[in-house]
Amino acid sequence: MNRNLIIAIDGPAGAGKSTVAKEVARRLGYLFINTGAMYRAVAWQALRLGIALDDAERLGQLAQTARIELTGTVDAMAVLLDGRDITAEIVTPTVSEAASQVSAIPAVRRALVAQQQALGRAGGVVMEGRDIGTQVFPHAEVKIYLDATAEARAQRRHTDDLAKGFNSGPLAVTQAEIEARDQRDKTRADSPLMQAADAIYLDSSGLTITEVVERILGIVATV
Ligand code: C5P
Repeated sequence: MNRNLIIAIDGPAGAGKSTVAKEVARRLGYLFINTGAMYRAVAWQALRLGIALDDAERLGQLAQTARIELTGTVDAMAVLLDGRDITAEIVTPTVSEAASQVSAIPAVRRALVAQQQALGRAGGVVMEGRDIGTQVFPHAEVKIYLDATAEARAQRRHTDDLAKGFNSGPLAVTQAEIEARDQRDKTRADSPLMQAADAIYLDSSGLTITEVVERILGIVATV
């Protein structure tokens, strides 16, 4: 098999992208890159510094100068911002919402997309996000659009939040938040979340993680 493929996995929040992408990377011995973590790192820093989430100039500058590192192994990934480990701090619902807001700013996207392209250029990578197959690597050899019903996505996120100790309220609130975030991600002017014309659509609602992983590996094997 070609060892240097670029595998792009895009889709809405809670579709299972990270879990699946990690497992695919592990099985292939590929690098796993979670691009959402980079938008989250910028959002986290903006919240900390009190930068307004629509201040395009300062946020663009922040995204350009922040040193974001994705380190560790597939199983124990760490996100460092200017050397500080912020892995646990960027997964809160507050940061999810803020990440969605800062990611709509073109200058932020330009800075992070350039870093993502540098990280994945050599191939042998599974990169997941919202615009990997459309903008970051439009020539990726494998493109998956991983979707699931709003109910299934909210249920997963709700279970994850509880496991992480966040009390994010009733399931209906989680579902409303997820739908609002996806709506923003799908309708922003710059690089909206959408399926690339040549991406394969997979609905994970009724599938286990293993089943989704097997399907993707099956697709990879045909390349
Ligand atoms: O994937 P995750 O939920 O961690 O992403 C957080 C937010 O970052 C998303 O809601 C989206 O607004 C933004 N994002 C993006 N492009 C990517 C990855 C994430 O706009 N490639």
